[in-house]
Amino acid sequence: DLVPLKRALLSVSDKTGLIELGQALAARGVELLSTGGTAKALREAGLDVKDVADVTGFPEMMDGRVKTLHPMVHGGLLALRDNDTHVAAMDEHGIGAIDLLVVNLYPFEETVAKGADYDTCIENIDIGGPAMIRAASKNHKFVNVVVDVEDYDALLAELEANDGQTSYAFRQRLSQIAYARTAAYDTAVSSWMADAIGETAPRRRAFAGTIKQTLRYGENPHQDAAFYTDGSNRPGVATAVQHQGKELSYNNINDTDAAFELVAEFAPEDGAACAIIKHANPCGVAKGATLLEAYKAAFNCDQTSAFGGIVALNQPLDAETAREITGIFTEVVIAPGASDEAKEIFAAKKNLRLLTTEALPDVMTGGQTVRQVAGGLLVQNKDNGFIGMDDLKVVTEKAPTPEQMRDLLFAWKVGKHVKSNAIVYVKDGATVGVGAGQMSRVDSALIAAKKAERMAEALGLPQPLTIGSAVASDAFFPFPDGLLEAAAAGATCVIQPGGSMRDQEVIDAANEAGLAMVFTGMRHFRH
Ligand code: 5GP
Repeated sequence: DLVPLKRALLSVSDKTGLIELGQALAARGVELLSTGGTAKALREAGLDVKDVADVTGFPEMMDGRVKTLHPMVHGGLLALRDNDTHVAAMDEHGIGAIDLLVVNLYPFEETVAKGADYDTCIENIDIGGPAMIRAASKNHKFVNVVVDVEDYDALLAELEANDGQTSYAFRQRLSQIAYARTAAYDTAVSSWMADAIGETAPRRRAFAGTIKQTLRYGENPHQDAAFYTDGSNRPGVATAVQHQGKELSYNNINDTDAAFELVAEFAPEDGAACAIIKHANPCGVAKGATLLEAYKAAFNCDQTSAFGGIVALNQPLDAETAREITGIFTEVVIAPGASDEAKEIFAAKKNLRLLTTEALPDVMTGGQTVRQVAGGLLVQNKDNGFIGMDDLKVVTEKAPTPEQMRDLLFAWKVGKHVKSNAIVYVKDGATVGVGAGQMSRVDSALIAAKKAERMAEALGLPQPLTIGSAVASDAFFPFPDGLLEAAAAGATCVIQPGGSMRDQEVIDAANEAGLAMVFTGMRHFRH
């Protein structure tokens, strides 16, 4: 899959590094074609360059709007070198193959940023550049495309390593980068135009996705909103089939996603699991011998909050569980499938939405999460960090029993899906108290314990279920106070990342309180 590089077209607005690149290519015997300004710069550096105008037989015209938009260029970029008809067409029309395209686009984003007027911005929309980039990218089986000055060195290194040739994998990488560039470019143009003309409808805006649905409103009724799919077709709320009930709202979609991503932490072959979500936080998560048991145990964590919640299951919904769920008002149920009987039971509940998918989300897959901040986007890799038994370090005199170990790992998995500061109490494979989203870890520990007390009263239990529980903290305890609060609530073992300056103080406090504690060495902040 190595392809030699014989002919290159260079057309760049940003001329940084151009001369060095041109010289390196010329030294390898690569023929250089170029547009006006780029050709001039290369020639001034003493390089031999052919004008694209001479190749196309047309001068650059209309203020540069038409320079490279010609079959002599696009044929050279798009022709499949291993296709007889393509090769015959090249021969017939005298089209020479172009093996490398180096383009960086008219500086549209910079022009907008400078506050240029409308017409100037319009003139800075590159047309031929993106057309060539997309053509070369599509034909990456044979063609290299470089859209970023930063990648010049990588290209030269690839040529050096392969005796003037490039590998298929390398060209694929270049192609992926190139499409990211043209997509971002057009998105920038569309966003600028939307601002310029006052277009505010979310479904008319350009994002890295395809509009799936215009929503009735956003988080609040005065906010317009829309739902986009990202083209990945991953199992999840964006690709689920809705069987009944009214249209999902913005908040429903957000919460359903949180619920399904959480329950997917529990592999169906390891047993049934259920997560109930309210306002993007779990108010009950449990495993069970059956889905019914898992649902009941999850519900018993915090029955008050579960009202109007979103239920996610890790196995197909069955009739018994469906019947139990209809016992209270639930907004959405999502599961990897549902039996016909379960669907019939739900059919009587007009407002309840049932969503099914072919499979559970894969919690180990990568991908990025994106969050908007004023004037920017924060992009990070998804939190798919995983902690198993072997990753844990016992730091106290007491070590957890195997049962405690199971509950600790369960609490840890749930804690990953709770907004920080997160404190999660677990007993016998079910959450018994969840403290979420507090600005102080002590308060999270306290609130979770209070909820457990309230539930004990409601269920007529002699004592809160936090007595004898395992507790997880999504980040280290900076002081012993949060840990002592958990101990006061009855926790007997603790899982937390460790890594605080005061770890030793916290460990001492744990030993004094007779707790077993393990460190994960990994944090699960979620905001
Ligand atoms: P140069 O400085 O070489 O005269 O122009 C380079 C710029 O022209 C590059 O940013 C390239 O993307 C852009 N370009 C190349 N061909 C065309 C075309 O046919 N139309 C337009 N509008 N821009 C082009």
